[in-house]
Amino acid sequence: MIQALQAVRGMNDILPDEAEAWEHFEDIVRDWLRSYGYRPIRMPIVEPTPLFKRAIGEVTDIVEKEMYSFEDALNGEQLTLRPEGTASCVRAAIQHKMLSAGAQRLYYHGPMFRHERPQKGRYRQFHQIGVEALGFDGPDIDAEHILMCARLWDDLGLEDVKLELNSLGSPDERARHRAELVAYLEGHRERLDDDGKRRLHTNPLRILDTKNPELQDLVDNAPRLLDFLGEDSLKHFNGVQVLLKDAGVSYRINHRLVRGLDYYNRTVFEWVTTRLGAQGTVCAGGRYDSLVEQLGGRPAPAAGFAMGIERLLALWREGGGEAEPAQPDVYVVNLGEQAQRLAFRAAEALRGHGFAVLTHCGGGSFKSQMKKADASGAPIAVVIGDDEAATGEVGLKPLRGPGGQQRVALDGLANAVAECLFTENEEEDGSL
Ligand code: ATP
Ligand code: MG
Repeated sequence: MIQALQAVRGMNDILPDEAEAWEHFEDIVRDWLRSYGYRPIRMPIVEPTPLFKRAIGEVTDIVEKEMYSFEDALNGEQLTLRPEGTASCVRAAIQHKMLSAGAQRLYYHGPMFRHERPQKGRYRQFHQIGVEALGFDGPDIDAEHILMCARLWDDLGLEDVKLELNSLGSPDERARHRAELVAYLEGHRERLDDDGKRRLHTNPLRILDTKNPELQDLVDNAPRLLDFLGEDSLKHFNGVQVLLKDAGVSYRINHRLVRGLDYYNRTVFEWVTTRLGAQGTVCAGGRYDSLVEQLGGRPAPAAGFAMGIERLLALWREGGGEAEPAQPDVYVVNLGEQAQRLAFRAAEALRGHGFAVLTHCGGGSFKSQMKKADASGAPIAVVIGDDEAATGEVGLKPLRGPGGQQRVALDGLANAVAECLFTENEEEDGSL
């Protein structure tokens, strides 16, 4: 036998049971985004590599070691499977001059690729929903993003998702903090791990979010960014907090929250849960006022966030969230050539009236077809044999309620099905 091939490690198939839950989740998410006035945008999955180097930063986990980059064999162009969506979204907004029409509230969703060590909640192809607000400079939009998340957790019935908040200030403020931070870390150089030593002069801020347990007290006592913020940054940060308090959203200021991407400034936040083990961050974002300019656009402030769909779904499932399996309204049983032709007409007619219909395909005895009809979960079978075909009528058989099979003409079928579904629902409600 030929050996079967497997999917790439860390890249998952999402099989129908699970994919139905994804679709249900995506429906909720779409309604939620619309209710805040965000509009969809779809970007390519492959982008020029320099886009991510410029946007995310050369000295970041993503660019240093997680990108799927390759050379286009035909023209030598350096390309990368997108590791996140913000850079592409901003690139698209600049390319299509979207900001000349005013500020934009946008969202996208889809697969992202990072070459990480696969484990629960961490994959090489994973999915994000990303939200970006381009052209907004106030704390109001930052607060809107956080309130949006809180509402989504509520819509999904998620519990135990907590908000962590920090401000990274402006580049100047960060530079002053950085000098003090480097001096402090230099003083404890012998305690730093390899990563820390390497980052000390390239990206010392990232040392603050180390997960190494031996460094926790060292970074806890490091100089705090918040102490370096000037009046404007403090006012902005305060503005966000006032709106959060008004909305009753509680949070914790986490002085070590610095985010892994270089483009952030001022407000940054993460939503974390303790229910998913080590991979507990379900959503992260913040403000990135210099990115548009950095990618060649006219300067425009912006803020956004992204959530990990796999992690959110795991949490949703854990709290009992489940999608109803998709069931047809009608299963069409047919035996014989004429019957099959009538079955196709009947099924199409019903679909034309908005019913979900499974037509039996592949032949088989009447008995085996009826078994399939039962197993499909459909409440009604339409039964067509040679008798029915000869008269142009079909049999209508309720599969759950009492009632026996009745004959109906094709042009009265949709009404009869509607009536039958209605009676079944009445009976189900009555028995509750
Ligand atoms: P982490 O610290 O877990 O690596 P991150 O800071 O790299 O996360 P972001 O780039 O901010 O993550 O992406 C936003 C969200 O996307 C994360 O909060 C998480 O929910 C999800 N996410 C990121 N990387 C992965 C991955 N490899 N597999 C699954 N989900 C992921
Ligand atoms: Mg990461």
